[in-house]
Amino acid sequence: MTDGERAYRRKVRDLVQEVSGEQMREYWAEQQAVGGDRIFPWAPSAHKLLAERGLVGIDWPAPWGRGATSSENYILSEELVGSGFPSSPVTSSHANVRAIIRNGTPEVVEEHVPKALSGDRRYADGLSEPEAGSDLFALRTTAVRDGDEYVVTGSKLWTSYAHEAEYVSALVRTDPESTRHRGLSMLLIPLDAAGVDIQPVWVIGGWRVNQCFFDAVRVPVSNRLGPENEGAAILSAGLADERSLSFGGTDSRLLLARLLHRFAGAADDLDDSDLEAIGRFATRLEVERMLNISANAKGARGAESAAAAGSMGKLYGSELAQEFAQWLNELLPESIYRTEWGVSVDDQLAADAEWFVRGTVTMTIAGGTSEIQRNTIAQRGLGLPRGA
Ligand SMILES: Cc1cc2nc3c(=O)[nH]c(=O)nc-3n(C[C@H](O)[C@H](O)[C@H](O)COP(=O)(O)OP(=O)(O)OC[C@H]3O[C@@H](n4cnc5c(N)ncnc54)[C@H](O)[C@@H]3O)c2cc1C
Repeated sequence: MTDGERAYRRKVRDLVQEVSGEQMREYWAEQQAVGGDRIFPWAPSAHKLLAERGLVGIDWPAPWGRGATSSENYILSEELVGSGFPSSPVTSSHANVRAIIRNGTPEVVEEHVPKALSGDRRYADGLSEPEAGSDLFALRTTAVRDGDEYVVTGSKLWTSYAHEAEYVSALVRTDPESTRHRGLSMLLIPLDAAGVDIQPVWVIGGWRVNQCFFDAVRVPVSNRLGPENEGAAILSAGLADERSLSFGGTDSRLLLARLLHRFAGAADDLDDSDLEAIGRFATRLEVERMLNISANAKGARGAESAAAAGSMGKLYGSELAQEFAQWLNELLPESIYRTEWGVSVDDQLAADAEWFVRGTVTMTIAGGTSEIQRNTIAQRGLGLPRGA
C-alpha cells in the first residue's frame, strides 16, 4: 500500500470508530427486525451513518464521490466489516451507480445519483438468467426498439435485492442478429413498471434472491447506459470492481478475532490441534488479504495481470472462508442452529458462526464460480490455451 492509502485507512478507521456502540446496536436491531428477506445493504440507519461521514460512493467520480481507487474501496470495506458493518454498503448498488455516472446522459445522472446518495434509490444487478450464469453471453432477454422506448421481454435469475430495489441494471440483447458479447446493452429498468413480476428464490442461510420476469416492459431509450449494443464493456468494468473486494476473508478475520477474544488468557481450554488450526487460519487469512491488496494495486496500475489476481483473491478467500466456517462450528460445541434471522440466542459468536457456515456456501458461486475463477487464472494469468 502507498503512504496515501495508509493515511486513508487511518482516516476511515477514525471515522468508523465515531459510530458508537449504541448506533451499531440500533443498526443490528434494524437488520434483525427486517429479517433475511428484507436485508438490504442500505438499511436506512447504516446508510445514514456512512453518508454523514462521506463514506457512501467514495469511488464514484466527482462531484458525487471522490474518485477513490479500488484499493481505497477495499480499505473502506475492510474497516467497515472489521467494525461490524456488513461489507455490502460499499459493493452492490455502488457499482451500478458508478456505471450510471460514467455512462448515463446528464439527465439520467441528475435523476439517479442524488437519490442514490441519500439512500432513497437502490439498484439490483440483472445479469444472470436461467441457462446463462457462467455463460453469461448466452443471455436471451431482448429489448426491441419501439420509438423512444425499448420493449423488454425475458427473465433474470438470482437477482439479489430486486425485491427491495427501485431499479435493476439489466444486460439485454438489443441486436437480435447478434451473438455472444456483441449486440448487448445495459438498461435501467424500473422495477415498478407494468409487466415486471418479481418472485422469491430462497438460498441457504435464509437469504432471498429473486427471479424477475419481464413481459413486454416499456423502458425509455434514455435509460440505456452507454452506446447501444456496447453494454458488455460496462459489464466488464463492474465485474473487475466486484472481484477486487474480499469474498469472506474479512468476515472470517472478524470472527477469528472474536474467538481469540473469547479464549484470551484461557488457551489451556483449547487442544493443541485447535491452537495449531488457529495459527494456520490466521496465516492463510493474512495471505488472502495480501492477495486482495496486490490485486487492487495491479488494478490501479492498469496491469494486465489484474484480472487473474482478482480471481485468485476471490477463489482463495471464498474457499478458505468455507473451511474456516466449518472448523469454527466444530470448535464451538454450543453452536446454535438458527433457522431465521432475528432469533435471539445466548451465544452470539456461536450463532454468527453458524450463520456464516451457511452464508459461505454461496460465496464460491456468486460473483463467478470457483471453476470460472480457475479458468481466468489459467488463461489470463498463466497464458494457457482455452479448453475445447
Ligand atoms: C447468493 C447469490 C446471489 C447472486 N446474486 C446475483 C445478482 O445479484 N445478479 C446476478 O446477475 N447474478 C447473481 N447471482 C448469480 C451468479 O452469478 C451465478 O449463480 C453464477 O455466475 C453461476 O451461474 P449458474 O448458477 O447459472 O451456474 P452454471 O453456470 O450453470 O454452472 C453450473 C456448474 O458448472 C460449472 N461450469 C460452468 N461453466 C464452466 C466452465 N466453462 N468451466 C468449468 N466449469 C464450468 C460451474 O462452475 C458450476 O459448478 C447470484 C448467485 C448467488 C448464489
